[in-house]
Amino acid sequence: MEFLSYGKQWIDEDDIKSVIDVLKSDYLTQGPYIKKMEDEICQITQAKYCVAVSNGTAALHLAVMALEIEKGSEGITSPITFVASANSMVYSEIIPVFADIDKKDYNISPSEIERKISKKTKLIIPVHFAGQPAKMKEIKEIANKNKLYIIEDAAHAIGSNYEDGTPVGNCNYSDMTVFSFHPVKTITCGEGGAITTNNKEIYDKLILLRTHGITKDFSKFKYENEINPWFYEMQLLGYNYRITDIQASLAVSQLRKLDRFKKRRREIVKKYNNAFKEIPYIVTPFERESLDSCFHLYVILIDFKQIGVSRKQIIELLKNKNIGCQVLYIPVHLQPYYQEKYNYKLGDYPCAENYYKHCLALPLYPKMTDSDVTYVIGNLVNIIHQ
Ligand SMILES: *Cc1c(COP(=O)(O)O)cnc(C)c1O
Repeated sequence: MEFLSYGKQWIDEDDIKSVIDVLKSDYLTQGPYIKKMEDEICQITQAKYCVAVSNGTAALHLAVMALEIEKGSEGITSPITFVASANSMVYSEIIPVFADIDKKDYNISPSEIERKISKKTKLIIPVHFAGQPAKMKEIKEIANKNKLYIIEDAAHAIGSNYEDGTPVGNCNYSDMTVFSFHPVKTITCGEGGAITTNNKEIYDKLILLRTHGITKDFSKFKYENEINPWFYEMQLLGYNYRITDIQASLAVSQLRKLDRFKKRRREIVKKYNNAFKEIPYIVTPFERESLDSCFHLYVILIDFKQIGVSRKQIIELLKNKNIGCQVLYIPVHLQPYYQEKYNYKLGDYPCAENYYKHCLALPLYPKMTDSDVTYVIGNLVNIIHQ
């Protein structure tokens, strides 16, 4: 049987055809599909502007850069995230400060954010962990009160809705929202990312930064007042973070399947929840009422001590049955780079560390069949009841 990994893409013939069409066309990069991808993301998120880039980390990097925050300032993010959320601040010499997670939904806790705000704080990067939106209404209020910027890391959360029923990425609660389209994420284009915003000034800056800080638009030239066909100006120090049309065509094809993928992801989550809710020593994911998450990960907490099997053993036993599990994430503040550079240590974020001790992500992706799900449940329950 096929190996059931914790997350996996679903590529069909129509996705393949859409990529082949680009390969046969005149443009492999900077062609029409990038705009189509951006339009599609605007439609899904209801944001005014979208800038597609080469990956989610590039999206975070440019988003932080576009805010032009003074070096030595502080930014607050969650310790339970992929390292890129915090790294994006380090690139701009902003000091990453973590705020502990909520015990229930594993997202950054608004009251912990408040505790970590200092005179130097300029930015909050909430991460919508596993696809469940963070408490954005509260976070926005805190940001307004303290004049802070917000960048949502929605790498897990395309297709999710906030408590008010509106789509993640609409930027009603933030300055920018960032997405990733890596193959383990909800939809994929190989490598890819995007930033949404409702702010025209930020949008213009992101467009420049994506391609070396260069513009060819005469109306935007600073020094040149003659129209010449070869002319361009480099106005900022940017990067080559462009996405190719090959990738963008795959993204367009995949984005159109988002509703279907979401429905299937939610069905699988429900099946898991029903199966595990009566099993002692397992905590199933908590979804806040009125949220409508497009689950990216299915993470349970297991009391390994009580069941008498270690996490390592469970992972190995399941692997022998062709089931892949994952531990997401090692708290970022415990990474050697963060401990050594910023003096973080074990004990700094007790909720995050306790979560890390007990978490296990089970396979969740839309292509899983009902019998795959039953198979995972059966094998895990067997181990626990041994
Ligand atoms: C995947 C991920 C990223 C980075 O995205 P890439 O496309 O892999 O660069 C950033 N933040 C979170 C929370 C992620 O899961």
